[in-house]
Amino acid sequence: MTQPFHPPQRTLMGPGPSDVNPRILEAMSRPTIGHLDPQFITLMDDIKAKLQWVFQTKNALTLPISAPGSAGMEACFVNLLEAGDKVIVCQNGVFGGRMKENVERCGATAVMVENAWGEPVDPAKVAAAIAAHPDAKVLAFVHAETSTGAQSDAKALCALATKAGMLSIVDTVTSLAGTVVAVDEWGADAVYSGTQKCMSCVPGISPVTFSPKAVEVIQNRKSKVQSWFLDMNLVVAYWGGETKRTYHHTAPINALYALHEALCIVEEEGLEASWARHALHHKALAAGLEAMGISFVVDEPYRLPQLNTINIPAGADDIAVRSALLQEYSLEIGAGLGALAGKTWRIGLMGHAANRKNVLLCLDALENVLAGQGVAINCGVAAQAAIQVYKNT
Ligand SMILES: *Cc1c(COP(=O)(O)O)cnc(C)c1O
Repeated sequence: MTQPFHPPQRTLMGPGPSDVNPRILEAMSRPTIGHLDPQFITLMDDIKAKLQWVFQTKNALTLPISAPGSAGMEACFVNLLEAGDKVIVCQNGVFGGRMKENVERCGATAVMVENAWGEPVDPAKVAAAIAAHPDAKVLAFVHAETSTGAQSDAKALCALATKAGMLSIVDTVTSLAGTVVAVDEWGADAVYSGTQKCMSCVPGISPVTFSPKAVEVIQNRKSKVQSWFLDMNLVVAYWGGETKRTYHHTAPINALYALHEALCIVEEEGLEASWARHALHHKALAAGLEAMGISFVVDEPYRLPQLNTINIPAGADDIAVRSALLQEYSLEIGAGLGALAGKTWRIGLMGHAANRKNVLLCLDALENVLAGQGVAINCGVAAQAAIQVYKNT
């Protein structure tokens, strides 16, 4: 017997997906129309304009890929790279490793610039790699490394690429709408993001943007893009705009209603206000956690407000704690990833989930679960420490 699926109501404070604003779920349930319906095309134009705004760019080739953030990543690499190319890839966590995978699957060579997990990418190391490999075509890095909670200086890194005549590929999946993303100011060439982190939209869409310089490279390739689905030369027939639109694939109509609604919500709040809100709730959460005696993995200047990676306190059982949070509080926090698995937890304050109620819920739940499992932490001080931050702001 098949039964309809009714998911529980969770509070999502992990590395994504984040809590979806109910307005977005409502938007998704509106009637499906055709992907070439004139009214849908009006919506596409508005989505594109709003994406340019949220990315802070005038790039004409700005659109949502019909697949999750990982597909946005792949779209950037397969379109810019050809076999034999060389790419400088910065790695300071899991997602830099995925960039390397993408480079190699394009038949290109990855020159790795390694930084410790939890540290930002070091521009001096990148400058040295550029000097050693002036023939590299692209510099690729992750702006907000979700596996560690560290943010790198995208502006400085893009400037190094531009100065060396290289293109840049930048992952802003976790940063977009959470911390400053300014594609044109950075001079970034291919930038991808996701909908399910600080945009608080449903998973499954990946906004991307390509600079005129990147478009020129894509249009003058010697070989075909290895992925038919992600080939921007073909996708523009549908998303391009100026001329008549033709079928490429059936757009995920209702998911695009959701993205449009998410963009409207960010627009109503304002980008600066959204960044400030993420910063405020992070400050309150951090004050509470530190009062409890829990330490952060990342040094303060590089911490992502939207992704708080903390060291699992001595004596705590990783899995038992996370499952108690889920069962007793319907609260999801993230496990450590890659090298930090089993050693850290990742607490997301992304988009709609970045609010005072969630900060206080998380501190209370964590304190009760840890104390209940006999872990030595400071009890009864976390909530007050967080509230003090709100009072002083
Ligand atoms: C989540 C994430 C991705 C992948 O996005 P999906 O939507 O899961 O495919 C890529 N890069 C970073 C930095 C991420 O946090």
